[in-house]
Amino acid sequence: MKAILVIADGLGGRPTDFNGKTCLEAASTPNLDELAGKGINGILYPIRPGVRPGSDTAHLSIFGYDPYKFYTGRGVFEALGVGMEVKEGDICFRTNFATIKEDFTLLDRRAGRIKEGTKELENALHKLDELYKDVRIIFKASVEHRGVLILRGRNLSHQISDADPHKTGVKIEGAKPLVDDDKAKRTAEIVNRIIKESYRLLKDHPINLERKKKGALPANVILPRGASIKIKMPSLKELYGIKGIAVAGGALYIGIARAVGLEIRKAEGATGRADTNVINKMKVAIEGLKQADFAFIHIKGADSCAHDRDAEAKIRFIEKIDEGIGYLMDNVDWGETHIAFTGDHSTPIAFGDHSADPVPIVISGPNVVKDEVKEFNERSALKGGLGKINGNVVPILFGYCDWLEKYGT
Ligand code: ZN
Ligand code: ZN
Repeated sequence: MKAILVIADGLGGRPTDFNGKTCLEAASTPNLDELAGKGINGILYPIRPGVRPGSDTAHLSIFGYDPYKFYTGRGVFEALGVGMEVKEGDICFRTNFATIKEDFTLLDRRAGRIKEGTKELENALHKLDELYKDVRIIFKASVEHRGVLILRGRNLSHQISDADPHKTGVKIEGAKPLVDDDKAKRTAEIVNRIIKESYRLLKDHPINLERKKKGALPANVILPRGASIKIKMPSLKELYGIKGIAVAGGALYIGIARAVGLEIRKAEGATGRADTNVINKMKVAIEGLKQADFAFIHIKGADSCAHDRDAEAKIRFIEKIDEGIGYLMDNVDWGETHIAFTGDHSTPIAFGDHSADPVPIVISGPNVVKDEVKEFNERSALKGGLGKINGNVVPILFGYCDWLEKYGT
């Protein structure tokens, strides 16, 4: 058996999206409708009813991992997503290159949206690792002003506040312990020393002298936020004995896939944006399934369009996803493949953010008893045989593939 899970980020919507229809209803989706027609349909609460999911917590829950147990913040997944090695107990932060004055007043949270030279700045920041004998300090620049910081050592805590004040014109006061314990106090002190030291290492860096000459803001400090700790998670391989691959563009999703033990496969033109090449992602997944049992494909674009409150762009993107699903359906062996298609949450146009509304889901394949649903959207899914489910799409999908251990005798 082979299993495929396609998640269209922010797929779900509301009748207020577009002339009384959700974007899924307004879009022309012949392939998704065909998939719905040959499968079992239902409504997915990504975490559970009454919870507004983040993409990260929703994905964990859909993969069958309780986010209330395994999620401490997105830093861990960002770190994995940019290719860093993350060990159990590591404290991970997202960081920004920012611009401060000499008195540490914050002038720009993104250092003028710096695009070039961040690799050289990262190299200068490798010196941070010499600050402590018993704490490793690992920094990696990612895209534009973004980066990831890892603290590795004993007696550290993720229970500290953001050092990033999230607004300009104020002095950076640094991170503070959120609980009254020595580990949190110590970690806050370390982060605050890193901020000071990063300023010392970056302020006269040739990249910044060059930027100043051109009238650009210098990237003269790093501001850590979103402290999170790596908790041990069993991989899908450990849980189900299968080999899985993931095709995703965005760092967060690559990170989540690595956290559950999926091998990352790169697809040409997979950008994590609305201009992504969906068909190429499907091709890479199908190719990967020659050696693997399970393929996870993440498609981001619909969520981005909905955050921009652009219904027409979201509809167009859903139609692009539909083409990708058509390609997938034409190129799998239906005698031995189960496909699940859903979203990680709804992102209604008027709301412009993730809502607690459920999303439609379909699972098709040889072991599925199909229902009467003939279209794929929020309304038709209400009549589906799967009913309402909370997260756990991967265990349900794997159940159809006979990969589950028996519970009891
Ligand atoms: Zn999402
Ligand atoms: Zn979103």
